[in-house]
Amino acid sequence: MNKFLLLILLGASSSLFSQKVSRERVIEVLSHLASDEMKGRETGTPENDAAALYIAKKFAENNLSFCFGDSYLVPFEYKGKVVYNVCGIKKGESEKTIAFSAHFDHIGTSDKTEDKVFNGADDNASGVTAVIGLADYFKTGKTDFSLMYIAFNGEEKGMKGSKAIVDIPNLQEQHQNISALFNFEMIATVSQFGPNTLYMTGDGFSDLDELFNGNAVNNLKIYPDPYLKQKLFYRSDNVSFVKKKIIAHSLSTVDMSKAKHYHQLNDDLEIVDFDNLTQLINNFGKTVEKLTPKNFKPIYNNTVNFN
Ligand SMILES: [Zn+2]
Repeated sequence: MNKFLLLILLGASSSLFSQKVSRERVIEVLSHLASDEMKGRETGTPENDAAALYIAKKFAENNLSFCFGDSYLVPFEYKGKVVYNVCGIKKGESEKTIAFSAHFDHIGTSDKTEDKVFNGADDNASGVTAVIGLADYFKTGKTDFSLMYIAFNGEEKGMKGSKAIVDIPNLQEQHQNISALFNFEMIATVSQFGPNTLYMTGDGFSDLDELFNGNAVNNLKIYPDPYLKQKLFYRSDNVSFVKKKIIAHSLSTVDMSKAKHYHQLNDDLEIVDFDNLTQLINNFGKTVEKLTPKNFKPIYNNTVNFN
């Protein structure tokens, strides 16, 4: 990523109406996480710690409370090292909680190629940018639901961070209050359904998408997962919560049949559609604003596999 491209991105005129979370903010957060200095955010590296601290700082700027102890950083052990998930919460009128999550770790660097950094702009700086963007969105005012924000570590190492965080005894009560967890996973591109849309993994297992779409604003829409053969529902951090019988699905835009950047060096800022991502974040926030524990009680049907 060179400085010129960043200047072009920042300078590009946007036809979008004024948004609560600005395109500039989205560019700032995503390009920081996906920068070469972050060296691909691999779990166990100093740069992975730096990414966790950066996210914690954004949570602090948005006046979130700690989920656990006296820090946003929630430690767990990986290969003999202490590494961190990041978690913050904003209390609403009710203890009932909507959670937003995304993994922030990626696959590090390569010593075999000229461009050495796997920047992971789509996977998953984009998802973390949505989590931070939603914390920005809800910085002021009080919602009916409490809102929880989690950045998972160790996803690329086998979903280690989400597995660790669901097993912390002191967090069980908070987890039991989660009415739904929206896990953002690769949302930097326009989905095959067009702008302002996402698809949801495991859509057939619960009524979350129907309930969400019934309240969605500005034509935001969640579609069923078109890549069922890939079993994506069971391949991302949402599944750690599914095992605890908590409603948890992943939302994505990546075209699994065509995309050529998954775990490749070209997963960099050039492939990010910032207008679409900004629109998604703002419309998602605006929709969640309308949800209350009365009008939003998603449940699983009996087709889901909790194991
Ligand atoms: Zn990912």
